[in-house]
Amino acid sequence: MSLLTAALAASGRQPAPPGSFEGAPPQYTRFSAAEIMRGFLALSFGSDLRIGATPRGIRRFDHPIRAAVITGGSVDRAAAMQRVLDEYAQKVPNLHLSIAESAANADVEVRLIDEKDFTAALKAAFGAKITRTFVRRTNPQCMTSVKSSADGAILRAVSFIIVDKGGDVFLDCAYHELLHAFGLSNHDQRNPWTTLNQRRMVGYLTVYDRGLLTLLYDRKSSPA
Ligand SMILES: [Zn+2]
Repeated sequence: MSLLTAALAASGRQPAPPGSFEGAPPQYTRFSAAEIMRGFLALSFGSDLRIGATPRGIRRFDHPIRAAVITGGSVDRAAAMQRVLDEYAQKVPNLHLSIAESAANADVEVRLIDEKDFTAALKAAFGAKITRTFVRRTNPQCMTSVKSSADGAILRAVSFIIVDKGGDVFLDCAYHELLHAFGLSNHDQRNPWTTLNQRRMVGYLTVYDRGLLTLLYDRKSSPA
């Protein structure tokens, strides 16, 4: 139960999250142990599209994470993406997240692209067959690929973020895809608090998701 206590301490007594309305109700900023556990179990196990072996337990990086932003697309969102990464680094210290000097040294690669190039970028990265299957199954707007070993250690993650469909789409994608990249692989359309509910459009790091990541990267929890 010490894990839950840590997560609740991290998520309690927070001001209303940035981007939410003023005086956001308690369900946006405070959660019971059962509410946190529900999201943790639903979002850190399994994923919508799995290729290869199924890890036995949770997936996460087992070392400090270095992220690199690969700029591209017709709208310059490099600085905005950098701010999103900075927020994750600051608000979830357990990630030990820093910026890599180059993509070659990065554990998480964030590629900024235009929507029209999305399918081509997926094909270049994963091949036509996997892209076709993925697009058919999930009809994605943005996407993240996570490679992990059988014991659940994430080896590398690549996120594709659309930059030319407006600021709201960009921010929703940026926060959502990084959650996948860090190991919250799944979605839950019935969870009202997480950015990984695809019916929601969020655009900030929610207190709830911050609590889940803090729990996932607590050194006392075991990957398998
Ligand atoms: Zn997703």
